[in-house]
Amino acid sequence: MKIAEKERLDMFCYQCSQTARGTGCTVKGVCGKEATVARLLDNLLLATKGMAAYLYHARELGYTDTEIDAFLERAFYATFTNVNFDAEDLVRLAIEAGEMNVRTMRLLKKAHIETYGEPEPTEVQTGTVKGSGIIATGHSLKVLDELLKQTEGTGINVYTHSELLPAHGYPGLKKYEHLVGNLGKAWFDQKILFSKYPVAILGTSNCVSIPKEEYRDRMFTTGPARLPGVQHLAGYDYTPVIEKAKSLPELEEKPGDIILTTGFSKSVVLSLTDKIKQLVEAGKIRHFFLVGSCDSPLKKAEYYREFVQKLPQDTVVLTLACGKFRINDLNLGDIDGIPRLIDLGQCNDSIVAIDIATALAEIFGVGINELPLTLVLSWMEQKAVAILWSLLALGIKGIYLGPILPAWVNDDILKVLRENYDLRVIGNPEEDIKQILSA
Ligand code: SF4
Ligand code: SF4
Repeated sequence: MKIAEKERLDMFCYQCSQTARGTGCTVKGVCGKEATVARLLDNLLLATKGMAAYLYHARELGYTDTEIDAFLERAFYATFTNVNFDAEDLVRLAIEAGEMNVRTMRLLKKAHIETYGEPEPTEVQTGTVKGSGIIATGHSLKVLDELLKQTEGTGINVYTHSELLPAHGYPGLKKYEHLVGNLGKAWFDQKILFSKYPVAILGTSNCVSIPKEEYRDRMFTTGPARLPGVQHLAGYDYTPVIEKAKSLPELEEKPGDIILTTGFSKSVVLSLTDKIKQLVEAGKIRHFFLVGSCDSPLKKAEYYREFVQKLPQDTVVLTLACGKFRINDLNLGDIDGIPRLIDLGQCNDSIVAIDIATALAEIFGVGINELPLTLVLSWMEQKAVAILWSLLALGIKGIYLGPILPAWVNDDILKVLRENYDLRVIGNPEEDIKQILSA
């Protein structure tokens, strides 16, 4: 046995007083729980945590769903001590979590659209405008809206970071003239970005990084986010972050090197379906790819940029979530007016991708797996786990997943994912493209 295999934990559980040596069951539970069951229980928890984040943001805007709440109770209860030792049932529950996450993402989309309007394609500047500034990072459109209201007329410019880029496409948010641009890329560039720009910073949700000392005093959190030594603002009152922004030096006018385009909603893409159908039938569009989801700083994640750069010109790339920052500076051009790079929004806008794929399948009169469409996804945390199970629950096969296989997947679970869903792990961009396009 190799050292790496010897050191690998089969499982880890310390949720009850029977736990081995009082520290943790790491091979098999004292209660009899097998490693695969423990991993499936963890998987269920990860997926439900992802759903909880989306539900939180829907509730922020006044949208709730008792059926989803009831499922969460059942799912959490299943992970309780001595309740469910049935691996097959836990796979069924994971699929149900995927279905419920579809419902959750739809709820959040409804909340966003009914509150801020349906997104429209919008160009977003990536440089700085002269004046004081606040960078808002995270996912909460509600927080961004409140911040924009409270900074209106103060002379402070507001910049989005990472997963708040899609906010620029919503009519109810883009109307604010002092929402001036997007700075940085995916969530993990915070330490470099926030050191570079001497502005106030507001973390609105998950994916905040523990700050460097040099900007800790000008960073604030709100909602679920909390950081050590960082002031937390409750109740959507952002006076302290506004006061801090006013006390800091002004940014200089410095246009960015690129202009990003975001805001391709379901209606916008579906309005193009006649043209897309013609182009597919004429052989001008060969294949669609959905490339994106949650990004991570792993070296292997460079795959996604290389993958898109190596795609032939007769392909169209849909993207979403912070994984888009690997590719959204690329100028892919268009195919007879259809952009080759289409940004659908945040990770929860996977629901938009699902609805577009379903509509295209209807238009072409085929099943979703018969469409010339391949999903090439990256995962980082619990939201991506929920989305993965949503896609599997919809019966989508042949997904390429990376940058690594989730660590809760052992050989037994991988077998199920491969046999039932043909799940693949990303390999070499060139070889993967060749394999996909020759299938
Ligand atoms: S629930 Fe089972 S596996 Fe978990 S700590 Fe208790 S005995 Fe160990
Ligand atoms: S897409 Fe995922 S990894 Fe990226 S900021 Fe959002 S939750 Fe975090």
